[in-house]
Amino acid sequence: MTVLVTGGAGYIGGHMVLALRDAGEAVVVVDDLSTGFRWAVPPDVTFYEGDFGDQSLMQQIIAAHKIDAIAHFAAKIVVPESVADPLGYYRNNTSSALNLLEMAVRHHVRHMIFSSTAAVYGEPDVEAVSELETTNPMSPYGRSKLMVEWMLEDTAKAHDLRYVALRYFNVAGADPRGRHGQSALNATHLIKRAVQTALGRYAYMEVFGTDFPTPDGTGVRDYIQITDLIAAHMQALAYLRRGGTSLVCNCGYGHGASVLDVIGAVKKVSGTDFEVRLSPRRAGDPARLIARADLARDRLNWVPRHDNLEEIVQQALDWERRLHNRQP
Ligand code: UDP
Repeated sequence: MTVLVTGGAGYIGGHMVLALRDAGEAVVVVDDLSTGFRWAVPPDVTFYEGDFGDQSLMQQIIAAHKIDAIAHFAAKIVVPESVADPLGYYRNNTSSALNLLEMAVRHHVRHMIFSSTAAVYGEPDVEAVSELETTNPMSPYGRSKLMVEWMLEDTAKAHDLRYVALRYFNVAGADPRGRHGQSALNATHLIKRAVQTALGRYAYMEVFGTDFPTPDGTGVRDYIQITDLIAAHMQALAYLRRGGTSLVCNCGYGHGASVLDVIGAVKKVSGTDFEVRLSPRRAGDPARLIARADLARDRLNWVPRHDNLEEIVQQALDWERRLHNRQP
């Protein structure tokens, strides 16, 4: 039994590859290296450089390996970019996923784990969002992912395929053993940006919005550590293999940190003070996005082990230092 990981050279997919290898699973990666890095895939993992939507390539891969599960991470993930280039997002995230799903059905791959996103909820007006909350994505990015959830739902009803779609909240941190981390160039995510500023790569950082209806006025997010997120995927794989029914599941801790909390943690952990500028809100940013995460614990037996903001920040900082040595 082999697991095919699309996007396995990227941040989240790359951590999945490590976890599968650590568990002794056979792994194959397909990645077009548009944002991932070849060096991120261990040399003993079979690697195909290409597009997961290319049906002849996928047919070749599925035929060459005994693929029993596909963990599908490859996607475009930048919300403002999706607003500027909706069709690019629908082509890559939705239309190519349809191609992949078609190949999975045709070649009897029975299990699928899909990277979905909290962006499918839009701007919820509840304190913590459960999977039963109405979906109302605000961006082409969120819609492109929700459409794949719908395709999976319908496909699972019609064919011998079961899936777990995991809706990620804010993923951060790095492999505690220092093997992998967030390496994307020009990343805009808060924790990455803050540790880069602490290391002097930027002269200052901005806080986008100080007038949200939150305790300190800045945006609140549920930051989930990458190894914990991947543990949910490994549990999902085991769940599907033991016959579990298809499931859509939040991945978060169920509590949040504000932008100022995060910046405070980065300053403390790095021992560096840096300039912080208060700026207007970014378009489309919700005030608060916190998961209700009971379903993952109950159905997947998921047990988070790294629910600690300072630990997450320390890992991000350690990885950023390693990355700098690797890519001066
Ligand atoms: N944010 C910020 N400054 C930055 C980057 C992000 O104030 O340089 C804020 C952003 O407005 C949001 C939170 O940090 O409230 C998390 O943003 P991020 O881009 O990391 O993830 P998102 O929640 O948008 O997916």
